Amino acid sequence: MKCPACGEVLIKKKGEIDLRINGKLYMVREVTFEMCPGCGERVLSPEVSQNIFQKIKARKYKEETIKIPVLNGTYG
Ligand SMILES: [Zn+2]
Repeated sequence: MKCPACGEVLIKKKGEIDLRINGKLYMVREVTFEMCPGCGERVLSPEVSQNIFQKIKARKYKEETIKIPVLNGTYG
């Protein structure tokens, strides 16, 4: 598969990704995805993303509190 953003060949990976769905941030662990070595774009297969969406819909997840670094951009 090729990157939809820049056309590089994607590399299969397994690990943790974050998804923002309807403004909410979800962390997905132990998931198979493809990553672009060029621009860092991550692509989920239709089966995997469907599976994730179903789990979210059915609320099949646990909630954890994590600390994330938040930065403000600088102007100019
Ligand atoms: Zn790319």
